[in-house]
Amino acid sequence: MFLVGLTGGIASGKSTAVAVLQELGCAVIDADVVARQVIQPHFLAYQRIVHSFGPEILLVSGEINREALRNIIFSQPEKRQLLNSITHPEIQKEMLKQILKYFLLGYRYVILDIPLLFEINTLTRFMKYTVLVYCDPQIQLSRLMSRNGLTLVEAEACIAAQLPISQKVKLADHIIDNSGDVEAMRQQVLKLHTLLEDSLDFLLVRLLAATVVAGVGGLVYFFLWQLMS
Ligand code: ADP
Repeated sequence: MFLVGLTGGIASGKSTAVAVLQELGCAVIDADVVARQVIQPHFLAYQRIVHSFGPEILLVSGEINREALRNIIFSQPEKRQLLNSITHPEIQKEMLKQILKYFLLGYRYVILDIPLLFEINTLTRFMKYTVLVYCDPQIQLSRLMSRNGLTLVEAEACIAAQLPISQKVKLADHIIDNSGDVEAMRQQVLKLHTLLEDSLDFLLVRLLAATVVAGVGGLVYFFLWQLMS
């Protein structure tokens, strides 16, 4: 089994590309979903966040007020580090559990959808391929403004908080250029899917499985032959 790290700049079209991969039956783990999951009340990270940031970080429902937390870490880098040190190990543990689940279900590769894959650079070593959903910076800006209802200044600030997309292009093994229409992007995702399906690792796994089956078959045949002679 192997892992594929999928990333992109904000509003470059990562979620749109992921939807196509899921339609094709790929196993995808969304790091953002896992990040929201591990701060739910019954998780260890929840207790640690309440312990470190105080009960004032909670909503009346008892859940963590994610917006308040976002505001704190936006203005205080040391708090961001503290939060990351609490959540990242829990996110990784949870993702590992899900990878194991897909492995047991027989998937030969899992796509990890990680928005900050290249910013958290310790993760790429676990990936066989890294894939970047790219889009022209001007188009990215206008898609972000219209999707999130942001002003130009707000959208520029969001993009500036990430590693520039021009840097990410240099770090990725495979690029999906989403500067055109959705159909053009879909065609590129189909090509990526073919590449993953035809990956040598698949062939090695198949070869190994065939060898094991042939070996077991040979042994059964040998014992039957012994019994009958
Ligand atoms: P990300 O997940 O990278 O933040 P999205 O997939 O949500 O980005 O795409 C950002 C916005 O741009 C969404 O509103 C989406 O519908 C739109 N979008 C994505 N790809 C295209 C495209 N090729 N042409 C036009 N709009 C697109």
